[in-house]
Amino acid sequence: MIEYESLGGVNEPYFQEYETFFASFIRKGWYILGDEVKNFEEEFTGYCGAKHCVGVANGLDALTISLKSLDLPEGSEVIVPSNTYIATVLSVLQAGLKPVLVEPRLDNYNLDPSLIKAAVTSKTKVILVVHLYGKMTDMEEVMRIAEEHGLFVIEDCAQSHGAMLNGKKAGTFGHLSAFSFYPTKTLGALGDAGAIVTNDSELTGKIKALRNYGSEKKYYNKYIGYNSRLDELQAGLLRIKLKHLDAFNGYKNKLATIYFENICSPLITLPVKEPGKYDVFHIFNIRCKKRDSLKQYLQENGIKTEIHYPVPPHQQEGYRHIFAGNYPVSEEIHNTTLSLPISVIHTEADIISVCKTINNFS
Ligand SMILES: *Cc1c(COP(=O)(O)O)cnc(C)c1O
Repeated sequence: MIEYESLGGVNEPYFQEYETFFASFIRKGWYILGDEVKNFEEEFTGYCGAKHCVGVANGLDALTISLKSLDLPEGSEVIVPSNTYIATVLSVLQAGLKPVLVEPRLDNYNLDPSLIKAAVTSKTKVILVVHLYGKMTDMEEVMRIAEEHGLFVIEDCAQSHGAMLNGKKAGTFGHLSAFSFYPTKTLGALGDAGAIVTNDSELTGKIKALRNYGSEKKYYNKYIGYNSRLDELQAGLLRIKLKHLDAFNGYKNKLATIYFENICSPLITLPVKEPGKYDVFHIFNIRCKKRDSLKQYLQENGIKTEIHYPVPPHQQEGYRHIFAGNYPVSEEIHNTTLSLPISVIHTEADIISVCKTINNFS
């Protein structure tokens, strides 16, 4: 059986380091907003090549607090890709703003910059891009359009730790960037965790207050904030894993190359390879018209796969009353996409065997 993922397996290489850290962590007795959070923030800032990082409780909060920090008029519009994970859309609603869905490009599954202009109104304040599956959005075009219309840009980097466009890391193009360290992510904690990355010093101060009850000085509340602190224990674990992130992404790229070189079925659309983009393959998705029977066939042949995602936001039960439009590109992706195993738990032989099995599908 080739599993889709095994989080125990992913974390096994760090067991000894985690255990040593945990023992000293317990004895130190400082469990909230201590040196681990502070050091992780510095180290992650350095990793991304940005100026500031503020640890928060999870990726959804990173998005919501980013939006809140901008102090936008209630009901302001935020452009969001129509095929994103629900958290992106939910953050806009939680911040009291209006999500406006814009279709992705069918080749790279990210926001189509050529469709942004038509969606901009006098109420539009933010373009919220998502580097889906670990693949960079066309940020140079997005930033140009944002500047032209005076819009903020927020990057949802929950799937793209270490991804690059022309040598520049995800999270360093927009005004604010939100990361999730949910255990399955490319940089995953052993629980919930997230962070906001930015070059803006003023917003950094405000976001630090917002995550901690809106307080800059203990017991004095400057803003109506949140309890959304990055957990001190998770920060310590993330520091250990961050050192290995490039090697982790490198290994996934090696496995992706095996897929690219060996899948040759005419029934399968592979992910696009774009010049200047370093993809971290959080997910290796293919598309197939007969997706459901392919998934079933792989399962019968001992290969587990996932679907990211089966239902687009505008068709979700709790959300569909908000969205009136049609989003055919997004629907096409949701109906045909399949995520293949691509984890550090897999050997090259595992991936070759997945390729062979796929090539025999008819
Ligand atoms: C995982 C994810 C999030 C949310 O992260 P959590 O830590 O689960 O809150 C947001 N956006 C995208 C694209 C994600 O994949």
